Amino acid sequence: MEIAKRLEEVRKSLPGGVTLVAVSKTKGDAAIMEAYEAGQRIFGENKVQELTAKYERLPRDIEWHMIGHLQRNKVKYLVPFVSLIQGVDSPRLLREIDKRGRQADRRIDCLLQVHIAEEDSKFGFSREELEELLSGDLPGELPHVRIRGLMGMATFTDDQEQVRREFRNLKTLYDRWLEADPGADILSMGMSGDYELAIEEGSNMVRIGSSIFGERN
Ligand SMILES: *Cc1c(COP(=O)(O)O)cnc(C)c1O
Repeated sequence: MEIAKRLEEVRKSLPGGVTLVAVSKTKGDAAIMEAYEAGQRIFGENKVQELTAKYERLPRDIEWHMIGHLQRNKVKYLVPFVSLIQGVDSPRLLREIDKRGRQADRRIDCLLQVHIAEEDSKFGFSREELEELLSGDLPGELPHVRIRGLMGMATFTDDQEQVRREFRNLKTLYDRWLEADPGADILSMGMSGDYELAIEEGSNMVRIGSSIFGERN
């Protein structure tokens, strides 16, 4: 019952229009089913193998989001069923998703991961790369990919002003993206520790794990 209770608390804290992705990575089927029974349908995982195994075992009306770094050679395993690939971090990965989407006759919803944290990180588009993508016609060349918006992670720090600044930068980029692509509708930012701030700064999708399922090992 703990999970259902915490899920309810998280839900109550979200304004209307903010989508909750319950991040179930490392958690077992029983935990996921407790959230499912409490009405949650969108779950996020960050490992392809774990995600596909859970998809196969668990109810078919679950919407699975891939939230972690995705290697190109694993795209094919997700394309048949994934609802949203968050964290697409390179044009090459976009092209691979398009190719596999064509083979599966599906159009795959994606978010572009933007590198907003001031700390170093290996993954994500930089501002400049995003601008390049916007000014080119890559999205138009990929009929089996639909870019729904942007995703980002703030620096893991107690410095609230820094986190706020990073989210604000991402919101600015999202607004820029919307000018070029008015069909986009998702700005995914905010996790257990910072989602309230993220929502204040304009997030409409939060990815929350430990506040629902408890700490991970
Ligand atoms: C693990 C993870 C989350 C959830 O983190 P919590 O702090 O447990 O809420 C959100 N987004 C991504 C990309 C993650 O890998």
